[in-house]
Amino acid sequence: QFREGAERMAEAFRHVDQVIVAAHVNPDGDAAGAVAAAGHILRSMGKEFMLYAQPGLPGYLDFFSTPGFVHTTLEHPPFKPRCAVLLDCGEPERLGRELAGRLPDLQTLNIDHHLGGNGMGNVANWVEPQAAATAQLMAYVALAAGLPLTGELANGLALGIITDTGGFCHGNTSAEVLYLTAHLVEHGCNIAQLREHLENSWSRGRLTLWGQLLQRAQLERNGSVCFCPVYLEDLRKCGALKEDLEGFVEQLRRLRGVQVAAVLREDSPACCKFSLRSYGAVDVRAAAARLGGGGHRNAAGGTVRADMDAASAQLLAAIAEELDAEEQDSSGE
Ligand code: 5GP
Ligand code: MN
Ligand code: MN
Repeated sequence: QFREGAERMAEAFRHVDQVIVAAHVNPDGDAAGAVAAAGHILRSMGKEFMLYAQPGLPGYLDFFSTPGFVHTTLEHPPFKPRCAVLLDCGEPERLGRELAGRLPDLQTLNIDHHLGGNGMGNVANWVEPQAAATAQLMAYVALAAGLPLTGELANGLALGIITDTGGFCHGNTSAEVLYLTAHLVEHGCNIAQLREHLENSWSRGRLTLWGQLLQRAQLERNGSVCFCPVYLEDLRKCGALKEDLEGFVEQLRRLRGVQVAAVLREDSPACCKFSLRSYGAVDVRAAAARLGGGGHRNAAGGTVRADMDAASAQLLAAIAEELDAEEQDSSGE
């Protein structure tokens, strides 16, 4: 299924040099795993490359080793960049201003699995909304480039797959992704150890924060929407970081009857970030898109430029509109 794209991208990798390897800002496990994989591929080809992430990899990925230093700025590159490999990022805005501003001067290759990512690569694009993770696609590129999926490469691929499938639980957990993971395990990748690093390494601040937020979660629309606002003050009081919220929105879906879980995080007095989760046919990407965000059907997010009160109202209205529209659709047929 993915062979043609993988071979095309492996070939494109062969024709570039002096490469910036980057994913979306505030990288998650899939972004980190995909970036690392691209580094391994470029290294095997003898290319000059630099890994780049804004504002760096999150603390919970400290254990993860990458093929080279992860730069957080493009100000002092080790070479004059001629190309950028862009990963796990559906739109240029999510690359961050620094890199987005340089794209016109660079050759770009783009590999992604976001729906609606129509390809920001000016040399080559490979966008597969069917893929569970960008790391999954990178595995096929690595194979097409003749690299065995072992060692650190395999760990990075598994990190991406575990992250984006929610530990092999989300609807994107295809047979394909399980075959691939079996292959990684066969070649020495330790899934249990990865999960241990990812799941069981909480800070005290994170535990305190989650405890407080779970008490605050509120139900809307007859219990079908579970919503929790998170203020900067919460993070400060609990001694927690933004990244300590990663995964929290999933907890809100645990309540029976909840169709949409929503977290709204204050980033500044005039800017908030939201995360949405759903299951099955309920499309939170469409709800996020009403506010200029995006993502996948069951996991989406975006930014609202407003204070928390106004942003909460907008977010709940967007969710309500989407649920109304879906109810109409299903009753109309
Ligand atoms: P999370 O809620 O974990 O931050 O993001 C879930 C998914 O929503 C991500 O995989 C990404 O596809 C999408 N997403 C999150 N934030 C944004 C955003 O600001 N803009 C867009 N277009 N998509 C986002
Ligand atoms: Mn991602
Ligand atoms: Mn991804």
